[in-house]
Amino acid sequence: MKHPHNLMKESYNYNVKCRTCRSLFQVQLFESHEKNLFLVDKKDWYCETCKKEYFSQQTKKLTEEHEVLGFQDLEGSPKSVSWAVKIRGELINKVNYLRQSLTFENNDEKVLSEKAFAVFLAEWQKETDAKWWIDHRKMTVRDISKKIHELSETIQI
Ligand SMILES: [Zn+2]
Repeated sequence: MKHPHNLMKESYNYNVKCRTCRSLFQVQLFESHEKNLFLVDKKDWYCETCKKEYFSQQTKKLTEEHEVLGFQDLEGSPKSVSWAVKIRGELINKVNYLRQSLTFENNDEKVLSEKAFAVFLAEWQKETDAKWWIDHRKMTVRDISKKIHELSETIQI
């Protein structure tokens, strides 16, 4: 008689094929056997090597995009750098969104705002630790707007 635990354990493992390199690897699936077979067939599977390769490509691409905007390479483990660069991209988008949504009464206001954004971005450009970006991942457009407002009050035209 088979031990029920072993019986269950066997049914966790399924062979799937990596979409990129076509190599076979095992995954553990915990739905019903029928659902698992469906997932094996229909889901896009990627092996660990291809997944790593994909993330490092994405990280490289984003890092290069940010470099053009004055940002530097991030420091940390490959996994945290990969995550941090993605966060940095999202935060830069939030800044751009805010910038585009602002309207000004006159040119002085516009110049002041531009200066505040420049100071703000210069601060961000100094942050090269992946952890800093991960810690600030929840920053909203409203948070950024508040900071810009505070900065513009300290700047003299
Ligand atoms: Zn692969």
